[in-house]
Amino acid sequence: MRRFGALLAALLLAGGLTACGGEAEMQSAQVFAMDTVMILTASGGETEAALKAAEDELYRLDRELSRTRESSAVSRLNSAPEGAAEVGEELRDLIARALDFSDATGGAFDITLAPVSSAWGFTEDAYRVPAREELEELMAHVGAEHVHLGDGTAVSLDPGTQIDLGAIAKGYASDVVAAICRENGVAHSTVSLGGNVWVCGGNPEGKPWQIGIQDPARPEEADAYVGILRMSDGFAVTSGGYQRYFEEDGKLYHHIIDPATGYPAESGLTSVTVVSEGTEGSGTMCDALSTALFVMGEERALDFWRSGTFDFEAILVTEDGRLLVTAGLEDSFTPDETAGYAYEVVS
Ligand code: ADP
Ligand code: MG
Repeated sequence: MRRFGALLAALLLAGGLTACGGEAEMQSAQVFAMDTVMILTASGGETEAALKAAEDELYRLDRELSRTRESSAVSRLNSAPEGAAEVGEELRDLIARALDFSDATGGAFDITLAPVSSAWGFTEDAYRVPAREELEELMAHVGAEHVHLGDGTAVSLDPGTQIDLGAIAKGYASDVVAAICRENGVAHSTVSLGGNVWVCGGNPEGKPWQIGIQDPARPEEADAYVGILRMSDGFAVTSGGYQRYFEEDGKLYHHIIDPATGYPAESGLTSVTVVSEGTEGSGTMCDALSTALFVMGEERALDFWRSGTFDFEAILVTEDGRLLVTAGLEDSFTPDETAGYAYEVVS
């Protein structure tokens, strides 16, 4: 069995990371939280205070949102007697947003897959292929309709239902870090939370930041990109089956589950990056949508983009070797021709 859990899906090019321009040098911080390596760089404003506050918040969010820590708010809800608990405003609001994403994506995004992810061993790193009957039994408890928002900060789960915020927590964390940087007047920043990237202010030389989009066919190679995205301010979040998987009897099983089947999504996509230049809350949106679009597959994902339900752009990599980029990124994305994909701009 193999696992590539902590790979960064979208890496900032090294040149940008150590930038040292006319303004103050970039300061950096590294955090290991949410099962991944997180790298933050910043300059301008109260940089030191911002990085310290961001670090504290990332550890706090890890403690609160983890499904594997017994003391987290999520675990307290999952193990509450009668399935009901006061979860606090922050978690309640995040669950409410997650339910909205389920609704908007026709159920492709679903935080109630927790028992199914566990059955596959992705939560506890104990990989196995569950029997069909076992999955059927668990799937009866999967679906946003099993989560109920009560008065105030109360949330309740139907018997057998558990939640897992793994597909949205890092995106939410990137929103929190972005808010801290803004409050502290940070002028330039890059934040990479395991495949969730946020940048602001462009680089100190006055150019956009460059974000490398990992080639899902070469996950072991740190600088193997399908292309480079140039962006001064915004979020770019990648989901891919290559980030965590195992192999059994010659077949690969990855960690993004199709809520319609209980099996790893086989949608014909190998990676999805969702990009938004938007402001508050966009990191959470990009994280939820990158997972959802991966489940949907090319056709449904592009129809969803065209529907305009949310304001975002996307980069899709298909199993059959195509690299699809939505029209809004035409000028800011440059494919890496050596990666060998057939490049198309979609409208
Ligand atoms: P990563 O966390 O690897 O960056 P994602 O944001 O795509 O990638 O989240 C995947 C995680 O979300 C899985 O490890 C699992 O905990 C959970 N998950 C799996 N399938 C779904 C789904 N269809 N909807 C919501 N969460 C999911
Ligand atoms: Mg996600």
